[in-house]
Amino acid sequence: MAVQKRKTIPEVPAEQDGLSGEELFARGKGLTYDDFIVLPGYIDFQASEVDLETRVTRNIKIKRPLVSSPMDTVTEWKMAVYLALLGGIGIIHYNNTIEAQVEHVRKVKRFENGFIIDPVVLSPRHTVSDVDRIKKEHGFSGIPITEDGTLGSRLVGIVTNRDIDFEKDRSRPLAEVMTTDLITAKQGVTLHEANQILKASKKGKLPVVDDQFRLVALLSRRDLLTNKDYPYASKSADKQLLVGAAVSTRQEDRERIEALVDAGVDILLIDSAQGYSRYQIETLRFIKERYPDIDVIAGNVVTTEQCRALIEEGADALRVGMGPGSICITQTMMAVGRPQATAVYRCAKYARQFDVPVIADGGIQGIGHIAKALAIGASTVMAGYLLAGTAEAPGEYFYENGVRVKRYRGMASVEAMTAGGGKRYMSEDDQVIVPQGVTGTVPDRGSLVDYVPYLMKGLQQAFQDMGVRSIPELHEALYSGKLRFEQRTSAAQAEGTVHSLYSFKPPKLGRSPIDAF
Ligand code: IMP
Repeated sequence: MAVQKRKTIPEVPAEQDGLSGEELFARGKGLTYDDFIVLPGYIDFQASEVDLETRVTRNIKIKRPLVSSPMDTVTEWKMAVYLALLGGIGIIHYNNTIEAQVEHVRKVKRFENGFIIDPVVLSPRHTVSDVDRIKKEHGFSGIPITEDGTLGSRLVGIVTNRDIDFEKDRSRPLAEVMTTDLITAKQGVTLHEANQILKASKKGKLPVVDDQFRLVALLSRRDLLTNKDYPYASKSADKQLLVGAAVSTRQEDRERIEALVDAGVDILLIDSAQGYSRYQIETLRFIKERYPDIDVIAGNVVTTEQCRALIEEGADALRVGMGPGSICITQTMMAVGRPQATAVYRCAKYARQFDVPVIADGGIQGIGHIAKALAIGASTVMAGYLLAGTAEAPGEYFYENGVRVKRYRGMASVEAMTAGGGKRYMSEDDQVIVPQGVTGTVPDRGSLVDYVPYLMKGLQQAFQDMGVRSIPELHEALYSGKLRFEQRTSAAQAEGTVHSLYSFKPPKLGRSPIDAF
């Protein structure tokens, strides 16, 4: 039997299928992520080869395109530390005093993998029963004792189980029971050296002190044993983790800006729900004149004219989104905003001419939305909802209808505004509050340490299906018209998710089902 010969068939021109980005977002259509789908590309590589490196601002590169939102239920130092370790970056919120925000920034800058930078510390005047209480609350002992009971004060002793186990009088001051014969490490010690000292000393805890014997950190043997490597960590040239901080456009926040820069912040974000204002421009000018080396994220914007004005003033990145947030009621209350995919596409296309990256802010429900935001021109996504249920977000877990949840609130919710968050919403008086956000709960998503790798693995697979190996390659494909899209009717959207089943189990990650997968 004759072997059938392989025929050469000419490649089909891209225009044969779907729409280019420009056609999809043709004037007059306000679309969002669920309104469109990306057509598949050609795969000749493994998903693990996809490189997710990107720029969050003009001058700052990160390995993974994820930024946490400056909200008081999302980003404080712990979120910023772990997100940076995992390749993203956190922006510390400013619904707090200048001192509190600066302390969050300092903690991120001080952080070194393996070192505990906020250890529980007591003073010699505390009693054995205080140690009992801490042991009950935190489940550990081995507490450093400093002169005034705070970090940064002179180290005078350490209290471990051995010092107090057989103590009958629990009201005795720690001065009488603590160990004063101390083994310490000097500030600047490497993790490897500290590890050697811990091993040789056979102790459970190793205090790290500065040249005046003030406590600066603590190392724990247990942490060393479980210490992880973070190959994607977002770091500055001096090896500190990268961190951003939000400021308002109000005159009184000039002082905040100075304090944050002094504390070593890498990025300032001017936080305003509508960024096309004299106040935003004046703040941007102030920062650029005073601190030309600090990268500034300006916004929020959704139109090209808004982008133009902020790029003209030197914005190093634009934060795009007005109304798509999960907790947001801006579009309903203010009648102003723009469907998010159209906003991202229009702003990113415009800002690209000036080499200014765009952050797609709000409305990201899962991996597919991250992939779509990047596919229509964003360089990173900013997430609130997605990250608010992780262990690293502020706040405690509690149970609601049997489900383990954390509280998540809009910065323009009545609750957050009452606590000071109204600065981003131009609210002038505190007598009448018109909310643009709500308070709610989000399911427990476990630790970022598991969750971010899950999101990024999924994103790599999405890129593989689109046939692109990196974010710059994806953007090239978008603007050359090679990347093709299809608009989805509501029936197509229904077809594209689970349907027809009598019942089904959503995929589970950690403790909770993934609500948007
Ligand atoms: P999410 O990721 O969909 O939850 O959206 C988070 C984004 O919503 C934030 O980064 C802000 O841009 C925006 N946002 C935060 N608080 C409010 C609010 O109270 N009203 C409207 N938008 C908000």
